[in-house]
Amino acid sequence: MDALNEEIKRLTALGLHRRCVEGDIARVAGLTLEINTLKKQKNAVICAHVYQTPDIILGIGDLVGDSYKLADDCRKTAADIIVFCGVHFMAETAKILNPSKKVYVPSKNAGCSLSEAITGEDVRKLKAEHPGLPVVTYINTSAEVKAESDCIVTSANAEKILRKMYEKHDKVIFIPDRFMGTNLAKVLGKTPGKDIILWNGTCIVHEHLNPDLIKIYRQKYPGLVALAHAECPSDLIAAVDFMGGTGDMMRYVENTNAAAYLLLTECGFGELAKLKFPEKNFIAMCRLCPYMKSITLESVLTLLKDPNPEEVTVPADIAIRAKRSIDKMFELAA
Ligand code: SF4
Repeated sequence: MDALNEEIKRLTALGLHRRCVEGDIARVAGLTLEINTLKKQKNAVICAHVYQTPDIILGIGDLVGDSYKLADDCRKTAADIIVFCGVHFMAETAKILNPSKKVYVPSKNAGCSLSEAITGEDVRKLKAEHPGLPVVTYINTSAEVKAESDCIVTSANAEKILRKMYEKHDKVIFIPDRFMGTNLAKVLGKTPGKDIILWNGTCIVHEHLNPDLIKIYRQKYPGLVALAHAECPSDLIAAVDFMGGTGDMMRYVENTNAAAYLLLTECGFGELAKLKFPEKNFIAMCRLCPYMKSITLESVLTLLKDPNPEEVTVPADIAIRAKRSIDKMFELAA
C-alpha cells in the first residue's frame, strides 16, 4: 500500500491526476507501478512517442520524443529490451538500429496510414521512372521502403536534409507524404512535379484538420498563435503562424508567450503541452490517431507479463540497406 501511495503521489506531482476522473489515479498508479517494476526486472526501456497518452509518456516512458529523438536515443540505450509505445515503423527503426535487442510493440493495430501508402516495389518503380534521382524518404515508412531509399528524414530535419540534397541534385524524389513534400517544396522554392517528385501518401490525422476553423479561433482568441504539423495540407499551413515537427512545436511553445496556442496535430501532443506548461492557454483543435491510441497501459502490462510476446523483426538484408539510409540521415542532420 505504501508503494501505491508513493506512486499516486509521484503521478500527482506530474499533474496526471488532472486528466483522471475522480479516484482513477489509484488505478493508473497500480498499472504504472507494476509496469515500472517489471521493466526493471527485465532490463527493458520504454520508448514513448509524444502522441501517446500522458499516463504512458509521464508514467512509464524512459525515452520520450518525436521520431527523430526516439531513433537517436534508441541507439544509446543499454537495455536488453525495447518496448515501443509508438507505431510499428518506429519499432522497426529501433530494431534496425539495435539488431541484438528484442523490440516489441504493445498493440497489433499500431500501423500508420503513411507507412501503408507505399511499398518497396512502388519505390523500385519510381526509381526506374526517374533514373539517377535520390530518394529522400520520410521516416514514416516500412523497413522495406527505407531499404530502397538514399536518405531518411523526419519532420525535424527534412528541410535541412533536402537543402543538402539540392546542393548536388536539381531534382529529388520525396516519399510518401504528399502534403509534407508540397509544404517543403514551398519553403525551398521548388515546384512539385518539376523539382520534387511526390507520392500520394497522407496522414489520416493531419489531412482532415479544417483550415476554416483557424479564422474563427483567431477572432475568438485575440493574440492566438496557430502551430501546425508539417503533415497538414498546404491550405492549412498557409493559415498558421508556424509549421514544424512536434519537437519544433514544443520548443516554440516553450520559448514564446502568446495569449493562446492552437495546436494542429494529434491530440496527445496538446495533452502533453498542457501538462508541461500549465500556465499557458491551449485551445483544443486536434484529432486522435487510432494507431497510436491502440496502445494503453493495460496493453503494455500484458506485453511485459507475456512469457513469449511477438518480437518486431526485420530480415537481415533489408535491415542492412535500411540502416544505410537511416545512418545517412544522422550524418546529414548532425
Ligand atoms: S498520426 Fe498520422 S503519421 Fe502519425 S502514426 Fe498516426 S497516421 Fe501515422
